[in-house]
Amino acid sequence: MLALSRPAVAPNCLAVQSVRRRLLSWFDRHARKLPWRGSADPYAVWVSEVMLQQTQVATVIPYFRRFLQAFPTIQALAAANEQDVLRLWEGLGYYRRARSLHAAARQVCDLHGGVLPNQPDDLRRLPGLGRYTVNAILSQAFGRPVPIVEANSRRVLCRLAGLRGASRAAATEKRLWDLAATLVSRHRPGDFNQALMELGALVCTATSPRCHLCPLQSHCAARCLGIENDIPPRGPRLRLENTQEVALALRRADRVLLVQRPQQGRWGGLWELPRRAIAPNETVEAAACLLLEELGLRAVLQHEVATIRYGVTRFRVALTCLEARHRGGRFRSGLYRRGRWVRPAELVNFPLSRPQRRLADFLADAG
Ligand code: SF4
Repeated sequence: MLALSRPAVAPNCLAVQSVRRRLLSWFDRHARKLPWRGSADPYAVWVSEVMLQQTQVATVIPYFRRFLQAFPTIQALAAANEQDVLRLWEGLGYYRRARSLHAAARQVCDLHGGVLPNQPDDLRRLPGLGRYTVNAILSQAFGRPVPIVEANSRRVLCRLAGLRGASRAAATEKRLWDLAATLVSRHRPGDFNQALMELGALVCTATSPRCHLCPLQSHCAARCLGIENDIPPRGPRLRLENTQEVALALRRADRVLLVQRPQQGRWGGLWELPRRAIAPNETVEAAACLLLEELGLRAVLQHEVATIRYGVTRFRVALTCLEARHRGGRFRSGLYRRGRWVRPAELVNFPLSRPQRRLADFLADAG
């Protein structure tokens, strides 16, 4: 067992060697074949790491393939229109990642001749690159023995060290990074870091870790103490809140109004049918009239296009889309960056959130 739960105690050297050997040997036999695995192309490593933040591997695979096909090089990405990048990212969520990746590609072309730098300080200055992503790139693409800590590896390390405390506490965070730095293989750092994450994804899972299959069981403090299911400690259950929204399919001749969200905040830079929350005790129609007022437009409300349900963070949202016929006014908004009148068939060209894509499909089908 690694004596890691007391910070003053350095992990035993033989134990460290054993962890490296066992984990890498397990990785060589059990690692999933993923399109970015085995690639030492810094750009491919970078794109995959950004996509994998907060996102499941299975979800990322088709996005990664499409993205690399559309933008095979940093130069190609830098030359792309932001809207095209967002359109390709559509459905993957956390759109700020896409905007930062795009901005960083431009910076790499401007400052580094289109070659992703291999120096930590240069990488850190690029938009959207935090400690984890920088070290993932350095270890996987450049063979630097630097540690990584993200959700899966954090869980594995906490259990290995028998750390019961909140895994996000600053003191715990520091100990985890120190431990990861001690453990990372000097010869195969990229594989070692991926192995730690893979073990967390496949064996040392959040619920019901399969310790009997784990290559590190003889080193694991949590396993030894029988507390693997208590780490990390369970947080309070998320209480879901029901809310309602209205969206407008506002028609003018054969076009419909599409508006672009601000760069900051959820769905930043994406387009949508104008939308607002419905207050408690407010009708859908009353909320729609307020929305029209906010947009500086006059219209006659018509029928319901659809009501869709979606979840976002702790909210369960019922979104009702009403059709309306434009009668006058000029578009203005304190929220949206701009508005455009587009044909329903053109909606396919604009990056939309998942719920808004479902509404757009209703409109495109209706013509
Ligand atoms: S022995 Fe169990 S708790 Fe420990 S690292 Fe392996 S799977 Fe996780």
